[in-house]
Amino acid sequence: MQALYESKNATLEDALLESLAPDEPWSMIERFTSLVRESSSEDEVTSFNYVAERLSALGVPHEMYMPELFLSVPIKASLEAGGATYRAKTPGFSINTPAGGISGEAIVIEGFAAGRSVDFFDFSPTTEVDVEGKIVVVDGFGGPPPVWYFQNKGAKGAVFINPGVDIHWGICTTIWGAPDLDNYHRQPTIPVLSINRPDGEALLAQLQGSLSEVTLHTELKEGWFECPCLVAEIKGVVEPERFVLVHGHMDSWDIGIGDNAVGDATLLELARVFQDNRDQMARSLRVAWWSGHSTGRYGASTWYADAFGLDLARNCVAQMNIDSPGCRWATEYRDVTVMSEAEDFAAQSVLDSTGKGFTGERPHQAGDYSFNKIGISSLFMLLSSMPQAKIDEMGYYGVGGCGANIAWHTENDTLEIADKDNLMRDLRVYATSLQRLLNNPIHPYDFRKLTAEFKDTLDKYAAAAGAEVDFGACYDALADLNGALDGLYAQTDRLANGAVDDQAVRACNDALLALARELVPINYTRKGRFRNEPAVRVPELPDLAPALDIANTDHHMRRVTRTHLVRGVNRVAWAFESSANIVRAALEKL
Ligand SMILES: [Zn+2]
Repeated sequence: MQALYESKNATLEDALLESLAPDEPWSMIERFTSLVRESSSEDEVTSFNYVAERLSALGVPHEMYMPELFLSVPIKASLEAGGATYRAKTPGFSINTPAGGISGEAIVIEGFAAGRSVDFFDFSPTTEVDVEGKIVVVDGFGGPPPVWYFQNKGAKGAVFINPGVDIHWGICTTIWGAPDLDNYHRQPTIPVLSINRPDGEALLAQLQGSLSEVTLHTELKEGWFECPCLVAEIKGVVEPERFVLVHGHMDSWDIGIGDNAVGDATLLELARVFQDNRDQMARSLRVAWWSGHSTGRYGASTWYADAFGLDLARNCVAQMNIDSPGCRWATEYRDVTVMSEAEDFAAQSVLDSTGKGFTGERPHQAGDYSFNKIGISSLFMLLSSMPQAKIDEMGYYGVGGCGANIAWHTENDTLEIADKDNLMRDLRVYATSLQRLLNNPIHPYDFRKLTAEFKDTLDKYAAAAGAEVDFGACYDALADLNGALDGLYAQTDRLANGAVDDQAVRACNDALLALARELVPINYTRKGRFRNEPAVRVPELPDLAPALDIANTDHHMRRVTRTHLVRGVNRVAWAFESSANIVRAALEKL
């Protein structure tokens, strides 16, 4: 498999890496220190125009789209409790409170989220508390899973106590991108706000005394807004219709340097160096800057996945997300987001370009991963991170970006969070992996890594389901697929040294893309191609995951779950069977 991962054009790769320079990206980062890039704002337009002007100056073809995105932009918030007024932030898609706020009896939720370890994607309380008509006070970040949970339990509002002295901005809807008929009803219906830890301690002390009622004040701007979406395209010369999409979000909380001015500047530098070497690029590179990430739950990347869905399905070789690279103290490639079939390739690219080790992690239902539903092999979201020892030394808690700096999503995410050396090193990783995706004859995906993951997942679910559900059809089809894949990968080392326009190479690549279109959706979605999952944790092979709970259900729910799982087995087994057929059809052309 090594032949698929290493560079097939050492001269080009050296030239690209040599030409990477801090001038263009660092100038942009410095310019962005005075732009509060809130979606729908003038500063956001200014930042998009800055990049478009630089692309024009560099000769990079690009298009500015103006999609209408559904946003909720926080304006202000406060919490009143027994004569005290606490500083607060409200997340996007909290409701607006009326004049006078929304008051109610506070109930402290114990033991749901430890203050220092936060799961952004899941919320599974161990005890039931009656919160009907009450305002819950909870440790943690006011993300979608807890807000969805408490709203459905009848809570009247929610106050989250963040782990440290800062209050983090965020968004609390589970709806991914603009709503459609499947999910518009999931929009939050309660006011939500966050306060910091010291104020949280003071509030908890008040609630232990005589105080029971609190009042939430929230103000947000919600609606459909035209926002910029900028996409550059550098055409390949051999198969220009095939492309790699590399992308990141332009909008930010406040000036957001670590999240994500550094990523935006990285994208610009990549556009510059690939444009300069375009005559040697086999495939096309699309570079996209999104709005509506922070206040529209990945609004623009979801719009792009809708508007260009068929093109992505036919021709996208890989999607690479760039968020928060090059941050202070971020020197390790640890638990980096990557799909299983691309993990070894990512590790090789990191090793070759930096000499560093790499560990991967299954993509969370987060970031601008708006393309899983189409079935596109994907790598990276956050990239370099602080060593755990440094996190411990600083006493930091877990956050979702900025290389693990807790300035993430606060006013402190300023120029000091960016690190020029780390940025240049991360740029080498991106340039190296993109060069290979664009030019290596065979796409660097090992789907046997994914089928091994599927086997582990099936074992876990089948053990939990016991005699309730027969997973045999999945196992049989998976074994058949593995046999077909062995046949395919017996050919790839030979093809890896062929030409991109060789018919056998093309047939093999068509099969690898078709495999992703089958196998990625069953591992990340339940809704079918082109429709969106909610922004909560998606377990492996999600159609079959309810197997884990079937033993704890009553007579009725056991049958409901069994029915669900039988349908899930059919969906998964059919995807395996279709994949095996794709591989066998390709083998006839090799
Ligand atoms: Zn980000």
